[in-house]
Amino acid sequence: YDAVLAADPADRGWKDRRDHVTGSISVNGNARKVEGWVIMKKILFVASEAVPFIKTGGLADVLGALPFAQKEIGIDTRILLPAYPKISAGIENTHVVTEFNNFAGHVVLRYGEYNGVGIYLIDAPHLYWREGNPYHDTDYNDYADNYKRFALLGWVGAELATGLDSWWRAEVVHAHDWHAGLAAAYLFNKGRPAKSVFTIHNLAYQGQFAHRHLYEIGLPEGMFHVDGLELFGQISYLKAGLYYSDMVTAVSPTYAKEITTPDFAYGLQGLLTDLREAGKLTGILNGVDQEIWHPSCDPYIQHHYKLKSIAGKKKNKADLQAYFNLPQQPDAPVFVMVTRLTEQKGVDLLIATADEIVKQGGQLAILGSGAKHLEEGICQLAQRYPENIAVKIGYDEALSHLMVAGGDVILVPSRFEPCGLTQLYGLQYGTLPLVRATGGLADTVTNSTSETIKERTATGFVFQKAEADDLRNAIQHAFALWQKQRVWAMVRNNAMAQDFSWKNAAAQYEQLYLSILNQ
Ligand code: ADP
Repeated sequence: YDAVLAADPADRGWKDRRDHVTGSISVNGNARKVEGWVIMKKILFVASEAVPFIKTGGLADVLGALPFAQKEIGIDTRILLPAYPKISAGIENTHVVTEFNNFAGHVVLRYGEYNGVGIYLIDAPHLYWREGNPYHDTDYNDYADNYKRFALLGWVGAELATGLDSWWRAEVVHAHDWHAGLAAAYLFNKGRPAKSVFTIHNLAYQGQFAHRHLYEIGLPEGMFHVDGLELFGQISYLKAGLYYSDMVTAVSPTYAKEITTPDFAYGLQGLLTDLREAGKLTGILNGVDQEIWHPSCDPYIQHHYKLKSIAGKKKNKADLQAYFNLPQQPDAPVFVMVTRLTEQKGVDLLIATADEIVKQGGQLAILGSGAKHLEEGICQLAQRYPENIAVKIGYDEALSHLMVAGGDVILVPSRFEPCGLTQLYGLQYGTLPLVRATGGLADTVTNSTSETIKERTATGFVFQKAEADDLRNAIQHAFALWQKQRVWAMVRNNAMAQDFSWKNAAAQYEQLYLSILNQ
């Protein structure tokens, strides 16, 4: 056995998950009986961001939770990350695993742990020691050496499946988004020594680089092909992940279907359709980290509450109104939105319809940053309707929690949404999501109709088309329900009773690993 644990796994709460095995080994020619418990699979997550160290979107939330949930069910998951300043600062007591020189120059691989999960850090200051956003400078210009920065990430991912760390070898390399897409390509180039999974958190970001860089990242010309990593004459790191992995997942079942259609596929619908038909593309819904995002223990809010003990929510609402200098009106529904400001998120639709919230006597608070014209658009709203609308431009973790806890409705009118997290937070906090029927939003929110209310499945408000009129109707729908406070409370209870813990997703990924390992 190369995987025998001589300690009693019950000590670590693993008993149910492990197979007890017995056998014998030869010691100096004498047979010795051994017994132990089979250690679960070794999975390496490869990604560019992770909560609590560095985050630009939902990807980081997943990395900050899923590996820990996998550990809980007995999977030996480790994470590989670039050593950005914030990540290095967050992981203490690392030791050097190895040092090497390759196409990216001199690199040190470090290892440390965070909350019991092993973390490999790629220490290459000339590539990663940059403050702020991991992908671009303060003027939003992508770093010119991104092709090399993220080739190195994929390369190390693949090497950790073939002995770069002599003590631990990944059986499955699980790469996330384009930043890690080349891991599967390097594995392919090494003769597929391990299995690979690629998870699409957002297909809109692709990592496209000029063909000439191929010679600088250690991959052969033969792989630059439509049946390979070429896309429209460039190298696509995203396509590499899709094409060379054993299995591809998207972060919700509906998004996994949508991306096979031209509107969502960015020219990759042929490949994605083939994958889907071959059973190699599925959707696994993200969860929510219950220690950070649950109203009963949220570390950022003053007043905790839970299902059937909801009083704290009103106090958070008062705190929220106070924070934004909005009138203290318990009876006015507060709509909140926490978002990156991009076209994707339908912020322009909200700008076109926010007057409906004002007209009906509601309040609206928006927290976000991103595209300048959208920042200006929402700031103008706040100037025009100071009694009803307030805006904060920027990224503010603590405030985002207060908004989710204190709001009555959370708006997610996205044009597309791979999974979406804020509507899940909304459900858990009894802040009814108002969403467009796309991607993970369609999978997680049930529109409040007379039927769904009767069946007790209603959890929010859903509209179909990415058009201002449809959003306006949905806002009116929310106001109509707000008039019936007893029904509102019922729908809120349904929402809060949903289970979005990471346990479900962790178990589904485990099934997926086992299925490809058994192939
Ligand atoms: P995406 O990954 O497309 O940005 P998600 O809904 O999957 O969208 O995840 C967004 C995450 O980022 C959520 O955790 C949300 O609360 C957070 N977030 C987005 N914008 C802000 C902001 N301005 N301040 C604080 N948190 C934000």
